[in-house]
Amino acid sequence: MIWREGLAMSEFDALWIEADESGRKPLPAKWNKVTVDQLSDGDVTVKVTHTTINYKDGLALAGAPGITRKFPMVPGIDVVGEVLTSESDRFKPGDQVILNGYGVGEVHTGAYAQVARLKSEWLLHRPEELSAARAAAIGTAGYTAMLCVMALEKYGLTPDHGPIAVSGASGGVGSVAISLLSKLGFETIAFTGRTEEADFLKGLGATQVLDRAELVEKGKPFGKERWAGAVDVAGSHTLANLLAQTNYGGAVAACGLAQGMDLPASVMPFILRGVALLGVDSVMAPMALREQAYRRLVQDLDLTKLDTLSETIKLADVKERAAKLLKGQVRGRTIVEVE
Ligand code: NDP
Repeated sequence: MIWREGLAMSEFDALWIEADESGRKPLPAKWNKVTVDQLSDGDVTVKVTHTTINYKDGLALAGAPGITRKFPMVPGIDVVGEVLTSESDRFKPGDQVILNGYGVGEVHTGAYAQVARLKSEWLLHRPEELSAARAAAIGTAGYTAMLCVMALEKYGLTPDHGPIAVSGASGGVGSVAISLLSKLGFETIAFTGRTEEADFLKGLGATQVLDRAELVEKGKPFGKERWAGAVDVAGSHTLANLLAQTNYGGAVAACGLAQGMDLPASVMPFILRGVALLGVDSVMAPMALREQAYRRLVQDLDLTKLDTLSETIKLADVKERAAKLLKGQVRGRTIVEVE
């Protein structure tokens, strides 16, 4: 138990990543007892009650280069919790808060600990409509799915324009994107490597479930028109193939690199069909956009569907689950309870 009054002296559990002798490469994350003084600076301390596992968290825990960029580091890019102490006028002890991204878990100590010390300008008040567990279920992946949908809407796409293709459909961003799009009245084509999850994806609202195999290989630079838009989490050939088969005047929101960071595409969809490629970043998205995204999530995400696509684990099991996520063996979203 962490007591607000004795916080400065309390020791708590944290996943801890140190650098090797070169000072640049991460050693495997290990559990450590730490004090608040060992966390990065910030004007608000938060008792972490919940967090989650995103693709990026999986990469950080696997020691992938380029994610953990400061040492020692507490990984975990999403914090959901209660304010313990605050030097900010915007927050007071007891407030329920959410944090997604801003380099937390990468260059600023993050969520895989019982306490986080954060900057108040990064924090959102958790909407009353969302329990802490559901806010963690949404996490960066869910909020990014909302940003992708908002990008397509801002471009002018409506359900009348035709279906939206979603890659990585069984993963975090993909499953939330399908739930959102279906609630908004869009037909969706779910591309997945796990066609055995077809019933699950149809339960979330997917109109059609197709094998991602047809997208992951090099395809024609310009194909038959099949969808009005797409949400892509994969990059590489998948993104190139999605662009090549987007209807005249359509748009693809690209947020991920699960297949690869390359984009082996041609300009044909852009110059012959006026297709738009919309980049989506959640990490440094301005606060006003985040607030809008959370208002929309409260309004447009079916919370019972969110529950069906989420599984709950304990913080102690985070490393094991993250390794599975990188192997594509985790469906939907993970809620991590932090005691
Ligand atoms: P998940 O691991 O939950 O989902 C990724 C899914 O992508 C997998 O479940 C799988 O879905 C699919 N996939 C995996 N490998 C491949 C492959 N080689 N080719 C094609 N598809 C593949 O991750 P998240 O949903 O958390 O993140 C998805 C991506 O979005 C990641 O690259 C992540 O870094 C990025 N991201 C970017 C953000 C931003 O701010 N731009 C924010 C959040 C995420 P299936 O089995 O259904 O095929």
